[in-house]
Amino acid sequence: MTDRQARQPRLPQLPRLRHSSRPPGLAGLAVAAGTAAVVHAAPALTSLPALRIRLFPALSGLGDPARVALTFDDGPDPNVTPRFVETLARYRVRATFFLIGSMLAREPTLGGDLTAAGHEVAVHGWTHRNLLFRGPAATYRDLARTRDLVGAVTGRTPRFFRPPYGVLSSASLVAAHRLRLTPVLWTAWGRDWSRTATVDSVLGNLTTGLTGGGTVLLHDSDCASAPGSWRASLAALPYLLDECARRGWSVGPLGEHDAPAGPAVGT
Ligand SMILES: [Zn+2]
Repeated sequence: MTDRQARQPRLPQLPRLRHSSRPPGLAGLAVAAGTAAVVHAAPALTSLPALRIRLFPALSGLGDPARVALTFDDGPDPNVTPRFVETLARYRVRATFFLIGSMLAREPTLGGDLTAAGHEVAVHGWTHRNLLFRGPAATYRDLARTRDLVGAVTGRTPRFFRPPYGVLSSASLVAAHRLRLTPVLWTAWGRDWSRTATVDSVLGNLTTGLTGGGTVLLHDSDCASAPGSWRASLAALPYLLDECARRGWSVGPLGEHDAPAGPAVGT
């Protein structure tokens, strides 16, 4: 740990858990321990999905059990993102897109297209770099720059942040807190970044770990994945939406995941 890290301000609050039986949140653990050393346990904890979901359900995106939050990372890609938007429109489902700032800067109209279609836009980072290896100032600039661009091209203030690779550094937690961004990871993923990903493998990975209230992670770009791997995700998407409908879950963006029950967002 560097001196700079040791002088970091107290850990910001992570999303509050919703149930009274909740275990201590990451912030609570840090306060109890009274040391920044616990803060550095964050990357290790957040990279272990099963443990993370149990200890930090809200950080993992666990919400209303009647719903599933659908999220996409790594876009916008001009050749890929519109295909996902088209499929979602066919199913009348809205989702949350965690955007990479440098990609949005090259294709800013894609941001507007997403919000015009009713989707939620959120912050993934300016580039797809592991924030564990970046200092506090660089991390803050990365998130702030992305948040500002997303806001400028869409007219919407992003509410959520998901770090590249799901690795939450202490600096990224502090930066997110200062920028009023809520960190959210996921409860189920398709492992769709792999060169060997297929429709069946993506669906199998997703549905194995998926429960009502969960948050699904897929990718609408291969900028950090095997070339063309998004095709398996795109092909799996209708089957995933059908399966959610079969299980009685409405699918929607993270921003509505904790909302009181209301009209269904989609199928
Ligand atoms: Zn990513």
